[in-house]
Amino acid sequence: MTTQTLPEKKSGTNLQPVEGLLKLAPYRQGKSTISGVDRPLKLSSNESMAGPSPKARLAVADLASTGAHLYPDGSQSGLRTAIGKVFELDADRIVCGNGSDELIQLLMRAYLSPGDEVVLSQYSFGMAFVHATSIGAITISADEPDLKPDVDEMLRHVTDKTKMVVLATPNNPVGQYLSRSELVRLRELLPEQVMLLIDSAYADYVVEDDYESGEQLVDSHPNTVMTRTFSKLYGLAALRVGWMYARPEVIDAVQRIRTPFNVNAAALAAAEAAVGDTEFTRFVRDENNSERERLHAELEAIGIEFIPSFANFYLLRFADNGKTAEAAGAFLEKNGIIPRPVNAGGPENCLRITVGLPADNDRVITTLAHFMEATPA
Ligand SMILES: *Cc1c(COP(=O)(O)O)cnc(C)c1O
Repeated sequence: MTTQTLPEKKSGTNLQPVEGLLKLAPYRQGKSTISGVDRPLKLSSNESMAGPSPKARLAVADLASTGAHLYPDGSQSGLRTAIGKVFELDADRIVCGNGSDELIQLLMRAYLSPGDEVVLSQYSFGMAFVHATSIGAITISADEPDLKPDVDEMLRHVTDKTKMVVLATPNNPVGQYLSRSELVRLRELLPEQVMLLIDSAYADYVVEDDYESGEQLVDSHPNTVMTRTFSKLYGLAALRVGWMYARPEVIDAVQRIRTPFNVNAAALAAAEAAVGDTEFTRFVRDENNSERERLHAELEAIGIEFIPSFANFYLLRFADNGKTAEAAGAFLEKNGIIPRPVNAGGPENCLRITVGLPADNDRVITTLAHFMEATPA
């Protein structure tokens, strides 16, 4: 019998996680419960209150009854083909992820090294900051002074060490987008070797002619990537599916580090059915947009500033009417409605609220009307 000599045990020598990691605050999900309220109306996470297409529901049920024992299709070919058909894109330039969150992480792991600089537009996806930091990259925030991505602000922070620029369009928590001409200007003025990540999570809601979600730019310029999600308009947040569109060399890099079954079979089946149901997609989009316009008019009429949005949520500002966002949030919660307070670093004195179904929105309008009447300025 041999005895192995192990290093002597010392106290206080726990392994430390990578540099900078302990400075990250753990992710805080939109609140989902209110104590004492049975079924609160959760309007804190930009989920689709319409839920997924009936075809997606059937696809999940079918998978559950006949296919749950089989590994998913690791090539994701059914879903990639369906996305390619609907968006008129080459399916070979698409890769799917466990939410677009995972794809952003994979892209960063594929391209960033410790010490690289990443410019994050102010109102982009919070997880991009977390993923970049976990790699040891240095993140720099570019202001959005007009509450939308600002090309000159982003460019101002680009140095020799910049590897990636990340923006969300429409952005979150505001819902404003960068025009096509501005997006093209950004790409053309960025050094070619800088990766531009365009997070278009809310693209499905935007119908404006001067909007560009990024795919044209991926085709026309190297080092450009677009990410999209099934979590918002498609109503599949629970199943976690996102997709990335990029040139073959970028897809190849991401494929090499993707785990083979990163998107589960229920998610693949549901997303494939959902993306094919274009009639349902259009219905959800149009209802969202007309409800958003109605909310805009009705909330403004009761004296609340409504910041224009092109997504499935809106930002209310309480600065000039003598009320606070905090009081409005508490009042909504007391009435069973959960909004999302805007975190530090976001626009001040604002509440973000998801556009719900018409009856949900009626409740928000009525409750906020009571709030404006009931609490003296
Ligand atoms: C919701 C959201 C996403 C989507 O994340 P998933 O991981 O696909 O659910 C991405 N970016 C922004 C800005 C978002 O608000």
